[in-house]
Amino acid sequence: MAQKVKAGVLAAPGVTQIREFDMPKLGKGAAICKVLKAGICGTDKHSFRGESVQYKGTENEIDLPFPIIQGHEVVMEIVQIDEEASRKLSFDGDILHVGDRITICPDVVCGTCWYCKNIPNYPWCEHLQFSYGNMRSCEDGNHLYGGFAQYIYLEPGTRAYKVPDGLPDEMAAFTEVMCVAYTLEKAREFSGFSMEGFNFGNTVVVQGSGPLGIAHIAMARMLGAGRIIATDISEYKLDIARAMGADLTINVKETTEEERIRQIKEFTPGGRGADVVVECVGRPEVFPEGLRYLRKAGMYLEPGNFVDCGGTSVNVHEICANNLRIIGMTNHTHNCYQTVMEMMLREKDRFPWDRVFSHVFGLDDYRTALETSMTEESMKVLIDPWK
Ligand SMILES: [Zn+2]
Ligand SMILES: [Zn+2]
Repeated sequence: MAQKVKAGVLAAPGVTQIREFDMPKLGKGAAICKVLKAGICGTDKHSFRGESVQYKGTENEIDLPFPIIQGHEVVMEIVQIDEEASRKLSFDGDILHVGDRITICPDVVCGTCWYCKNIPNYPWCEHLQFSYGNMRSCEDGNHLYGGFAQYIYLEPGTRAYKVPDGLPDEMAAFTEVMCVAYTLEKAREFSGFSMEGFNFGNTVVVQGSGPLGIAHIAMARMLGAGRIIATDISEYKLDIARAMGADLTINVKETTEEERIRQIKEFTPGGRGADVVVECVGRPEVFPEGLRYLRKAGMYLEPGNFVDCGGTSVNVHEICANNLRIIGMTNHTHNCYQTVMEMMLREKDRFPWDRVFSHVFGLDDYRTALETSMTEESMKVLIDPWK
């Protein structure tokens, strides 16, 4: 096995480096995996821009510990695993072996705090140990804690998931993003109350048609949405949104807020407005407008502002007057990876997934990859460390 490992390192906001690390020694309960592909997430772009505060106002609030190896949407192949890890790392109880293709939930939680025990399906842990690609410096521990490297080191407590045969690497690396789109499952929990939350045939508006928006469009379609409306500032992205199933797309650059609200209302049954709006832009400014797309008692889902980009001003009276339901959703469930991968495999030919994975760069082009992911003419940008 290689003794040196090449990695893309974010040394500080805006400062990228290519570094070489010694291959760590395998510890108890751990695994070392060869990274096959890793996706650039919105969070990675925020960190690059210096928007690096996460989990603000919680026990886990953190300003990223640069230097870090980014990349938490990772598909990998196990190259070393000890006996304990082989029994314990799989979330679904699989016995893992060298050669298995797996993906991971980025968050390593304690498993024993009140949240871990009482709300086990979400990583709300009070003692979040770290998350891959984000929360541990590459100068600490076993260094290789991100996907933008040739190898990644999986610590005990990591939740790994076997990738089904036939699911392409790019799609397996997209599992984490699709799991965030489980926000729609959360909205569906409310469908037990009369016509609240997300019901079969409902109109869903997705604000922002980047990868997270696209994941929500695909998920909404799979879960039985009626009309799907997508917004963005990029015609390139809106074109992919249409190909993925959006019935109406609105270019935010070419319309005013009032025009968008009118178009959305006109497109919904009875002109009432959307049943569900999902914020996938990752900027607080779009929140007040999104509330205005909703019908009375409509549900607004907020998974997009994962990092702290500040506040915005809303008219609270409108929330009250319209009986709006607002659901904040940091992160995602860790128990749905297997389901999501099986559903992606089942629905592989229904969506033009190849258009979602717009660029693949080698490690030497780490910076170009980040910059490309921030342009209007890119969708999910991936790093292949062996390219
Ligand atoms: Zn992500
Ligand atoms: Zn915990």
